[in-house]
Amino acid sequence: MPPAVSFAFDHDATMNKPVNCRYFYGDYFRGKNKEACRLLEANPNNQHAWKRTYCDSCPVPEILIASNSRDLALEATVTKRFLRGQVEVTFAVCTKHMEELADPRFCPRCAEEQQRPTGGAL
Ligand SMILES: [Zn+2]
Repeated sequence: MPPAVSFAFDHDATMNKPVNCRYFYGDYFRGKNKEACRLLEANPNNQHAWKRTYCDSCPVPEILIASNSRDLALEATVTKRFLRGQVEVTFAVCTKHMEELADPRFCPRCAEEQQRPTGGAL
């Protein structure tokens, strides 16, 4: 019995579309079609070159939106699972507090500040 796993392949329809991510870089000027991931480029330990298809399953844009830290710095690498590449966050820091985050979506010290009463001096 073959395993019931289906693989997704690179698809023309997903090419050449900018990704809504602060780390995505696209240059389409005069058909240059240069695309890159600044996040993976910044990690010298990443073993697998970025491909546009990685963005489709990448957790980073969602993390940036969901995190309570507005000063998030991430490090990510490509891991291979079932022959497919997947971007995985390996390191997250709140640069405001210089605090390494176990969960990139949550900085305890940012949460503290956000809970602190801000008014009272009206
Ligand atoms: Zn913080």
